[in-house]
Amino acid sequence: MIPPNPTPNFLKLTAPGIPALAPYLPGKPISELERELGINNSIKLASNENPLGPSPKVPAAISAHLQELARYPDGNGFNLRHALAHKHQVTPECITLGNGSNDVLDIIARTFLYPGAEAIFSQYAFAVYPICTQAVGAKSQIAPACNYGHDLTAMARLVNPNTRVIFIANPNNPTGTWVTTQALKDFLNSLPTHVIVVIDEAYFEYVTNTEYPDTSLWLTALPNLIVTRTFSKAYGLAGLRIGYSLSHPQIANLLNRVRQPFNVNSLALIAAEVALSDHQHLQQVTNLNTQELALLSTGITNLGLSYIPSVANFITIDLARSAAPIYQALLKTGCIARPLAVYDMPNHLRVTVGLPEENARFLQALSQVLAQL
Ligand SMILES: *Cc1c(COP(=O)(O)O)cnc(C)c1O
Repeated sequence: MIPPNPTPNFLKLTAPGIPALAPYLPGKPISELERELGINNSIKLASNENPLGPSPKVPAAISAHLQELARYPDGNGFNLRHALAHKHQVTPECITLGNGSNDVLDIIARTFLYPGAEAIFSQYAFAVYPICTQAVGAKSQIAPACNYGHDLTAMARLVNPNTRVIFIANPNNPTGTWVTTQALKDFLNSLPTHVIVVIDEAYFEYVTNTEYPDTSLWLTALPNLIVTRTFSKAYGLAGLRIGYSLSHPQIANLLNRVRQPFNVNSLALIAAEVALSDHQHLQQVTNLNTQELALLSTGITNLGLSYIPSVANFITIDLARSAAPIYQALLKTGCIARPLAVYDMPNHLRVTVGLPEENARFLQALSQVLAQL
């Protein structure tokens, strides 16, 4: 028998940032919990998914296109880009489609970040920013947060000639915090033009506060701005993976060079187009969220706990003790929430706003778990 070759140290063979990379930890899938505990009827409030699902027009539209699965999708996403251009009153050349907005964030990092370049984001910012920065060997500059939210002054202080990208999630996940129109405008106007600012508006549709900015309206004035949006949250299409960015056409042109030729699948393109046209469903989704976010907030207060005020479709609870055992105990009741130890928030638990009965069940389970401590 021929002896096997020795295993090389693969760590030494990677691109520069890879050995220090920690993988993204997703919310626990329902199927996994039920397989592990032999239970059913569990609820998942862990990944900020839409409990009402997509527009009811989506399944029929997808069915009508199932015969075309052997064909590559339209790599230019002509129809959807035109629909989005119409919605945002920009030209289609401003729009870059992605396999989820995460894909667009990754394309931005691969386009503008590299060893020696720096990205700035906030402490407690969305976990994808450090991952896509590290993956291309660039340096992360992390600004300390203020009350868990973005401190734009602290972020501005980190800008230097090597800064290429600033990531701001507005509102931010996992904190639900947000920055106002005036604060963001002042910040953007203070930056040198060599810095590209990504405003990640994954939860845009949920926010009702009038001081919350729609930065897609600022693209003409600010050529270094990239706004990202997604169909994963309010549009209820997380499983299909589709999102997009709005930017100056020259930025879009660069992103398009790095983008995989068929990064968005054909069913996602169809579904997004249909979802975009169903304003009534979107309204229903956001109305339910506004109502249930308020009820969930009150419920948390009634349990004697505090939370980080949120404008999104989730809320982060301060348990004032380690969240890990509470998360585990909640799992046994069939409730999946999201522990935030990976964000250096070991006492916090993030919960997605679900259906009324799911939110009530979560509060009931949390109350029971706390009583048994
Ligand atoms: C959920 C989320 C996204 C969206 O991810 P997709 O890849 O579009 O599913 C982007 N940014 C933030 C801050 C999020 O929470």
